[in-house]
Amino acid sequence: MARPMGMTPIRLHVEPPLSAGATIEAAAARAHYLGTVMRRSVGDAVRLFNGRDGEWDGRVMALSRGKATLLAETLVRPQHDEPDLWLVFALLKRDTTDMVVQKATELGVSRLLPVLTERTNAARVNADRLHAIAIEAAEQSERLTVPAIHAVRPLDQVLAKWSDQRSLYAALERDQQRPLPRVDDRAGLLVGPEGGFGARDRDLLSRHDFVRPVSLGRRILRAETAAIVGLALLQASSCG
Ligand code: SAM
Repeated sequence: MARPMGMTPIRLHVEPPLSAGATIEAAAARAHYLGTVMRRSVGDAVRLFNGRDGEWDGRVMALSRGKATLLAETLVRPQHDEPDLWLVFALLKRDTTDMVVQKATELGVSRLLPVLTERTNAARVNADRLHAIAIEAAEQSERLTVPAIHAVRPLDQVLAKWSDQRSLYAALERDQQRPLPRVDDRAGLLVGPEGGFGARDRDLLSRHDFVRPVSLGRRILRAETAAIVGLALLQASSCG
């Protein structure tokens, strides 16, 4: 039975192309989310986006255990450019990494690059799990895209491939660094691990001209707090 009018449509990220009349076979997990978690039924409204074709009003055409068919009907928001803001972060414990991925997605990051530094304690991530967290955060925050999440790599490898055209603001605690300046939207933020950057990391950072050391204030923030604060400051000055 259709839900009452006025119920907020569920936003769903889908992979296939979207256009008027396109039908999408959603994966089992999405069918479960729609039917069991959100208790939606055939005929209920949904909002669909895929990161390329804008956002579409649509509805649930069929819903059964493990399967949902969705119909795209009307374009409600054309695709537009989103901030070109990257977050490079030293891999943290599982829960804190999850939090960084979720908050960075909400804060508009286009790429997440987990790195290994001198004092990084974790070495692995579950890529599918992080992708699912990013999708959920993109759906919730009304973004039109889901950020790309790179494989974990050592910091030196990421720096070696970094473009000179993109400033990388390295959050360094306890140094007399400048605050985050106004920047254009092509930027990156680097945040260290729970134990902070080591001497070798700092030496490595000092060898690249695109690295701009910055302070986030006098207090020592947890790494996940530093990521959120740094991204919010960059957003406030440039990436809206
Ligand atoms: N446990 C380390 C210590 O006491 O020396 C502090 C590391 S801090 C928890 C983790 C990361 O957050 C740092 O590597 C840095 O990137 C960032 N961070 C924390 N507070 C900061 C601040 N006030 N300014 C700049 N970066 C900061």
